Amino acid sequence: MANSPAASTPVDASTLLLEPLEAAIVAAIRGNGPLSRTDLSAHLDYSRASVTGIVGRMVGAGILAEVGEGKSAGGRRPFLLDINPDLGYVVGVDIGATSVDVALADFRGRILERIAQPADVRGRPDEFLGCVADLIGDLLARRGTASTAVMAVGVGVPGPVEFAPGVLIAPPLMPLWEGFPIKDFLRARFPMARVAVDNDVNIMARGECQAGAGKGLENFLFIKIGTGIGCGIITNGQVYHGADGAAGDVGHICVDYNGPVCHCGNQGCLEIMAAGPAIAARARARAEAGESDFLAARLAERGMLSAVDVGDAAAAGDRAANEIIRQSGRMIGGVLATLVNFYNPEAVFIGGGVSQIGHVLLSSIRQATLRRATALSTRRLRIEYSRLGEDAGVIGGIWLALENAFTIK
Ligand SMILES: [Zn+2]
Repeated sequence: MANSPAASTPVDASTLLLEPLEAAIVAAIRGNGPLSRTDLSAHLDYSRASVTGIVGRMVGAGILAEVGEGKSAGGRRPFLLDINPDLGYVVGVDIGATSVDVALADFRGRILERIAQPADVRGRPDEFLGCVADLIGDLLARRGTASTAVMAVGVGVPGPVEFAPGVLIAPPLMPLWEGFPIKDFLRARFPMARVAVDNDVNIMARGECQAGAGKGLENFLFIKIGTGIGCGIITNGQVYHGADGAAGDVGHICVDYNGPVCHCGNQGCLEIMAAGPAIAARARARAEAGESDFLAARLAERGMLSAVDVGDAAAAGDRAANEIIRQSGRMIGGVLATLVNFYNPEAVFIGGGVSQIGHVLLSSIRQATLRRATALSTRRLRIEYSRLGEDAGVIGGIWLALENAFTIK
C-alpha cells in the first residue's frame, strides 16, 4: 500500500497492490466471512499487535471496513472486519466457442448481475472483446455505476494461454487471437481494472475450488469434456499452471498409436478418440448401420447427431448409445488412472458440455479409473460431476479476478 487516504475518499486503485500479509488478511476474510482482529491473528499466526497495525492501514485505505460486532470472549465484543462493500466490482467473463457469459460480482465473489449471449469466437478478437466490454457496461448501467468502478476482470478463453502476459498461443479454435493483448484491450475500457486471463478448464477448476464441490479441498483435478478434453490442476488450493501455462493439456495423451489423426497432428489422442465429436461420429455410424432405431430417427429428424442425442438415446435404454458412451468413458478413465497414479488427488470433478449426457459416462469413467489406478491413490478418491455445471466458468472468472485484484500491476 503506497499511502493511506481517509476512509471517506474514493478508493485509489494504485493503493491496492497489497503486501503478502495484507493479501493473506483479504484471503482469510474472503474464505471465512467477517473476522475480528483476534480471529485474524489466530488464522495467520501473527501477533495481534502486528495484525491490528496492518488492519488499521487497510481500513484507512478503504480496503477493509468494520461491519459489526462479533461474539464476546468475556470482555468487550470485538469489531468484525469485512472487505469494504464500497470497494467496487469485479467481473468474470467465460468465453466459449459459441457463447459468452459475463457476471458482475462484489469483492466477496457474490454475483450481482449476469448476462449470457451467443457469440462466435472465430472472428476478430477486438470485435469480440468490444462486445464483451459493452456487456459489462450494460451490467454496470443496471447498478447505476461507471466503468471506473470495475477493479478487476478475470477472463476464461477456450485455448492455450501463456498465463503471465495473458495471451493465447496457437489456439486451434480462435487463430485470429494469437498473441492478441486481451489485458491491454480491456484495460483501455476499464482503466481502474486489473485483468487476468486463463484457459477455460483452469477457470472452471478455480470456480469448483472456490464455490463448488472442491471447496475446502487442497489437491484435485477438474476434467472438462466437451469438443476437446482438458484438465485443471488444483494444488495446495491454487491452480497449477506449469512453467508456461500449458499444464493439464491431457487431451493429447495418446490412447491409440494407430488411431485417427488429431488436429494437433498426432494420431489417436484422447480427445479425438473420446470427446463430443467422437461420440457423435460413432453414433452416426451406428445409426447408418441400422444398429439404433432411436439414433436413426434423431438423425433423420435433425440431419446430424450430437453427444447430447447419444445421452438421450442412452437414457431411453438404447443399447448402441450406451456402448458408445461406455467406450468413451473407458478411454477417459484409462488416462485418468494414469493421472491419479501420478498426482494422487483427493477428488476428480468432471464438467463441460459432454458431462451433461447422464450417469453412464460417469460410472464408466469411475470403473475404468478404479480398475487401473493403484490402491493407495484411490483409497479416498472421489470421482464426481462438477457441482457448478455450466456456471463453473463464469464463477471461476470472478475468482480469477479476485485472486489478482490486489496482486498484479
Ligand atoms: Zn492431439
